[in-house]
Parts: sequence; C-alpha cells; structure tokens
Amino acid sequence: MRRVYLDNNATTPVLPEVLEAMRPYFDEHFGNASSIHHHGQETRAAVERARESVAALLGSRASEVVFTSGGTEADNLAIFGLASAGDHVITSTIEHHAVLNACKHLDQYRDKYRETTGCEVTYLPVDGRGLVDPADVKRAIRPNTKLITIMFANNETGVVQPVAEIGKIAAEAGIYFHTDAVQAAGKVPIDVNKIGCDLLTISGHKFHGPQGVGALYVRKGTLLEPMLYGGSHERSRRAGTEHVPGIVGLGKAAELAIAGFERGDDKKIATTRDRLERELLKIEATGLSGEGAPRVPNTTNIYFDGIEGEALVIALDLKGLAVSTGAACSSGAIEPSHVLTAMGLRPERAKASIRFSLGKQNTAEDIELALGLIPETVARLRNLSPVWTKAVARAT
Ligand code: PLP
Repeated sequence: MRRVYLDNNATTPVLPEVLEAMRPYFDEHFGNASSIHHHGQETRAAVERARESVAALLGSRASEVVFTSGGTEADNLAIFGLASAGDHVITSTIEHHAVLNACKHLDQYRDKYRETTGCEVTYLPVDGRGLVDPADVKRAIRPNTKLITIMFANNETGVVQPVAEIGKIAAEAGIYFHTDAVQAAGKVPIDVNKIGCDLLTISGHKFHGPQGVGALYVRKGTLLEPMLYGGSHERSRRAGTEHVPGIVGLGKAAELAIAGFERGDDKKIATTRDRLERELLKIEATGLSGEGAPRVPNTTNIYFDGIEGEALVIALDLKGLAVSTGAACSSGAIEPSHVLTAMGLRPERAKASIRFSLGKQNTAEDIELALGLIPETVARLRNLSPVWTKAVARAT
C-alpha cells in the first residue's frame, strides 16, 4: 500500500542531507564537546558551526542561541527562567501545552502559597480567526508583568499571530517577550529583531531535523535562571553534555531551511496546500478554521460536520493516509481541541476537525492520492452517522 504522510506538524522526516551531516558524530567524531583534547575540539567546532547556522535562520547572534532537548524544554526554560514569585505573566488560550501547562504550573503555585510567593497568569482569548488582539495584550499589562509569551504560529491551525506588534508593545512597556516559533521555523522567515522578542523557541523535528533537539534564542543581556543544575554548558544557561549529533542535525536543517526560502519552497508548499484545501472545501458541510487570518504555508484545518475526527483519522490510516485531529484524549474520553473551542467552534464541530500538514517531501501526487480517498471516506462515515442522517433528514 502506498502511504502518504500529511501530519508534518506532529513531526517531519529527517532530510537525507541532515542524516548525512549527523552520521559521523555518532562514531568517527564522538568526543565530548567540553573535552580539551582533539576529540573534544572537533565536536566543539561542530556545535559552534551549528550555532552559527541556527543564528542565521533566526537573524540573531550565535552567542544568543541555547541548545535544548527540544521545543518543550526551550518553552519551559523561557518561562521558568524568567518568572518568579509575585510576577504576572501574559499568555493566550491557544498555546501549545508546553507553554500552557508551564503557565498553569506557575498559577497552581500561586493557589497553593497565595499571592506572596506565586505568579499570576492572564490567558488572553482569540477571535474567530484564531488571532490574539494586540490591544488585549496592552490592556492586560500590570505593574508586575514580567513576561508575555504568545506563540508565533499555531500547531493546529497554522494561524500566525501579530508577533511584531506584540513585540513592540512589550518593548515599550519594558516587559520580556517570548514567542514559541516551533511551528514557524523553516516555514516562514524569522527575524528576532523584526519581531522584537527577547526569547524564541524552535524545535528540530518540526523542520526536517532530528527529534529531541531544539533551541532557545535568548537576547543578549536577558538573565535567565537555569532549570538544570550541573556543568557550565551553554554559558551556564543549560547544563548537560551537548547532544552533538542532534545539534549538528539541527544546524543542517537550519541551513536547508534558509536555502529553501531562497528557492521559494514555502510558496510551492502553499500552492499544494491551497489545492488540497480548495478541493476539500467543496465537500458539503465543511469549513476552514483560521479563515481570513495569516497562516503558515503548510497547514490547513478543516471540519467535516457529522463526523468524529478520530474515526476519520483511523479510516484514512487504514487506506494509507496519515493525518490528525487536534483533539486530546484525557481519561479515556476524547476532548475537543482547546484551540478550536477557543476560536468559538462548538465542541462537536471541533471534534469533527482534521489537521492536514505538509512537509518538503510531499508531492502533488500525494495530494491527488489524499483527494482520491477523503471525499469517499467522509461520505461513508456520514452514512453511518445517526447525527448526520438526522441533520440531512431535517434539511430535506
Ligand atoms: N510548541 C509547539 C507550537 C509545538 O507544536 C510543539 C510540538 O508539537 C512543541 C512546542 C513541543 O516541541 P517538542 O516536541 O520539540 O518538545
């Protein structure tokens, strides 16, 4: 069976050039990057080259890049590294759980120990397109606001937030601004100075690098409390022996992403995504989440009324097509996506939503194959759905 993978926001395949770049660092060049002998110097040089490549992707200085074990750790380091007792933090309701649950932890701490020791968090709403209003950010600022953390691009809808406007508000108020750019890196150009952020998260496996490695951009002069205590790696911002093959892979993925922008890969992906989206929206009782908002070029989130998203994911998987829902499984029950419900979708519609996310490996044929499978599978599931049958009966 031919398999097509359209779940690249979950993870992407490592590009062959990335794998090739990483390979020697598993055996031939195995040194600890902190060792002073030849083996250490060799890997240290590779880590620093990768840092330059990541800095080039972000428009930062190399010294401002801190390597981490991925997006989750970088998000946590930004939040826990800055927020301390008595501080106020501003975030949004549509963040990834790496930010949302870190903020909830700050909040719970406050509940437990009361205002004297904990942090307070404001969760800003989004509009029907999934956008945070910068005016809401401004209004939420208090004298003790220490950090604003608002994502660059949403993982479920691909909606891009007005990060440069938020950066400007933060700078004017003298507040730190962190943005989770895990779903933006490699998909749209990033320039930390244009955004005006102090901290920015990326993750290798979302743009054809390896899993388990990421980076936090930390603007020069930003004092972060480390989360891990140990050696003085990463200028004492992240203790622990560097994951050299992973870091080399992340650096290579950054170089390939820059080359991709120069070739116009992002525009090509957008054209392919747009065809998929246009055709799927021709199916009756469907709709696009995030319509009218700026989006990254690879993502589309579509609801198919009358269908359980999980059932559609499983039915398509049996035919070789991998897609996903934004829904989370909590204690055995499928919960509707917090992102889609925050945008105002009713729970049944949020549960009837599917995310399609493309990667550099996807071809026009992949999309044709998907389009050959989805309409008939949706029709079959709807025929089996009592909700759909009743709705059709009511309408006729
Ligand atoms: N932030 C966003 C927006 C994500 O989509 C993800 C992963 O899905 C993460 C953070 C976490 O990154 P990682 O998987 O590298 O921990």
